[in-house]
Amino acid sequence: MTKVEYKHTEIAVKKKLGQNFLTDRNIIRKIIRSADLKPGDRVVEIGPGFGALTGEIATICPDFTAIEKDPALAEFIRNEFPSVNLIEHDVLKVNLEQIADDRKIKVIGNIPYSITSPILFKLLEHRHCIQSETLMMQQEVALRLAARPATKEYGILAVQLQTFCEVTYLFKVGKQVFRPKPEVDSAVVSIVPRQVALDRYQKEYSTLVRRAFQQRRKTLNNNLKKEYDLSGVTDIDLHRRAESLEISEFETLFSQVKAFR
Ligand code: SAM
Repeated sequence: MTKVEYKHTEIAVKKKLGQNFLTDRNIIRKIIRSADLKPGDRVVEIGPGFGALTGEIATICPDFTAIEKDPALAEFIRNEFPSVNLIEHDVLKVNLEQIADDRKIKVIGNIPYSITSPILFKLLEHRHCIQSETLMMQQEVALRLAARPATKEYGILAVQLQTFCEVTYLFKVGKQVFRPKPEVDSAVVSIVPRQVALDRYQKEYSTLVRRAFQQRRKTLNNNLKKEYDLSGVTDIDLHRRAESLEISEFETLFSQVKAFR
């Protein structure tokens, strides 16, 4: 069992909670600078751990909200940063709308790698109350999020996120700056939700995107013809593969298909 000690608090590292703690001050400051926090911002930190980012956030926005599932770490944050509103809970179950209140939130975090995708999709669902997200995750996922068409990384995750948000890959973080050292490198990504015409149809759009990528090597026609009436699709060549479509072309495709009832 790996143990980590910091300021007289020792914990047995819980792998399933993705506990790899950041130890490099320069990287910490770089993440905080990227988040562009201003006094008065409503900030939410996911997984403060031993407070690597928490301390820096608190110097700009002393009374922000942090969500931590591990009781020992939650206790640590309550003691070390009394001005922080600590929610001891699973981030996937927290009501972000309630925290946002009347102001949109800036989300920041070195997020637990085991639940990266569920967190990204939760934040996508709640994008209407989010101003920006500055998130560290496995580099491989970061590359998939920000991928361009016709690359092997481009797929469901990229299309879903990039349709509703501005996604920017910011920088790589090597595994040597964490304790314990993870098996893979990380990267920081900026995600900024934006207004799009098909905002109300996110669920239906998401289903279409999943189906379009169902078998990557098949054409759009072959992946979609069973579930959709494609007779109205005039502006997209259905002999193409999903991986070749720009985001704007997915939006066009969605507006021209008719779902079977
Ligand atoms: N922010 C700290 C840092 O950068 O050193 C810790 C980052 S560590 C990668 C992820 C943190 O998220 C851990 O503190 C872990 O206990 C916490 N965590 C894991 N699953 C969680 C969940 N479902 N809800 C809230 N926090 C969670």
